[in-house]
Amino acid sequence: ASLADMPEGVPASHRVQDRTAVPEPAPREGFRNTPDSDPAIAANRAWAAEIVARMATSRRGAETIAAHTVSDEAVLDQRIRAAAAAAAAWRDLGADTRAEILHRAGDVLEARRAELVEVMGAECGKVVEQSDPEVSEAIDFAHYYAEQARHLDRVDGARFTPVGVTVVTPPWNFPVAIPAGSTLAALAAGSAVVIKPAALAERSGAVMVEALWEAGVPRDVLTLVQVSENDLGRQLLTHPAVERVVLTGAYETAELFRSFRPDLPLLAETSGKNAVIVTPSADLDLAAKDVALSAFGHAGQKCSAASLVVLVGSVATSRRFRDQLVDAVTSLEVGMPWDDAARVGPLIEPAQGKLLRALTTLEPGQRWVVEPRRLDEDGRLWRPGIREGVQPGSEFHRTEYFGPVLGIMTAETLDEAIEIVNAIEYGLTSGLHALDEAEIQRWLSRIEAGNVYVNRGTTGAIVQRQPFGGWKKSAVGAGTKAGGPHYLFGFGTWTDAES
Ligand code: GLU
Repeated sequence: ASLADMPEGVPASHRVQDRTAVPEPAPREGFRNTPDSDPAIAANRAWAAEIVARMATSRRGAETIAAHTVSDEAVLDQRIRAAAAAAAAWRDLGADTRAEILHRAGDVLEARRAELVEVMGAECGKVVEQSDPEVSEAIDFAHYYAEQARHLDRVDGARFTPVGVTVVTPPWNFPVAIPAGSTLAALAAGSAVVIKPAALAERSGAVMVEALWEAGVPRDVLTLVQVSENDLGRQLLTHPAVERVVLTGAYETAELFRSFRPDLPLLAETSGKNAVIVTPSADLDLAAKDVALSAFGHAGQKCSAASLVVLVGSVATSRRFRDQLVDAVTSLEVGMPWDDAARVGPLIEPAQGKLLRALTTLEPGQRWVVEPRRLDEDGRLWRPGIREGVQPGSEFHRTEYFGPVLGIMTAETLDEAIEIVNAIEYGLTSGLHALDEAEIQRWLSRIEAGNVYVNRGTTGAIVQRQPFGGWKKSAVGAGTKAGGPHYLFGFGTWTDAES
């Protein structure tokens, strides 16, 4: 098929933009995905090189964070009350006006793309290859939720009433896209937001919030707070004016939040332990590349990352796939994001606890195919590792590590492989590499995961086409999938229009 035959919304223009040109504002009706900065275009490489040159010393966002750090209960209480007081006017603006502000937010995020890429590299160690698509995703959320909000006002026979105040508690691994997505969804639905960026990514979150303010979201409708003390965190979550909490983070964090307030109205996307199955019908070259990048992009610090690969039949018994995978993985340069060649960046913090154990020790019967190697003094930079001999029921089979280590498992049949994957208590993303249509259908009908990817990596869900969210222990609360048509429903209640 030619590009002209592709249906509306297919990102035919994906990765073909000259980033040095002044961006056009996005259309105000309908939705199209925002293109990433194609590194094949020389101007984009020069654009990225300029950002990279600023990264090592960048302090972007620092002033905003300093100005919004709250260390006092009375001040936090006052900020939350101010948000609650501002919520009604925001709601009463109506979806169309809010949508216009959100579209503008998308445009400002686009205009500030370089700044966002810079702060993510400086603060979180994201390489441009990873952070540039993240900005695209944040922009997509703005335009997509803007359009979705218009539908909320137009459902016959039912009226949508947004909650007053939503608290957003994002993670550090997608320090712009995830806070932007949660915030923009709540705002689109008509709720005020109090956002507390992750402690390790507070500056990135602050620059994202600045962009939304610049677009016209009032400052009391979108309140930035950085609270460090546990007691203030608890106060934020248990404040009577807070009607929703959006969490993206570890399952244990969701449990902690619930221990503060058992009836906490939580929309949470939690941990994952994701596997890719490779069958003998697969395009093995493609599978090796996809597994390597899904496992080690952003040093494996994604809920969506592949942590296991399950080799079926002859893929398990021959060396071919393993050798290709080893080639793909060992050719990935590891370094800080301001080292031009780096494709795998640093861990956000020195490896510790279970991750350090997974990088340095094997369980009985396991062997390193590629042994992880620490490349710096403090333990943030690691050559990624691959172990084989991972047995069903072993610690490595069950545990999310959130770092650059992948385990190989084997199965005689596709059904056995599916059983191995479904035995995991999480169910966020899952991948299959197979060209056989019957295998694909069988896997699709049985696999237990929120996001299922055939002949593609397991990371990088795209707004509207791949709404993102989990099953089993990968989701807590009443959330639906981010970037999908029902996500805004979580930020309000429906009543009979007559009542
Ligand atoms: N949405 C991201 C992806 O598809 C993952 C988000 C996460 O790690 O929480 O890769």
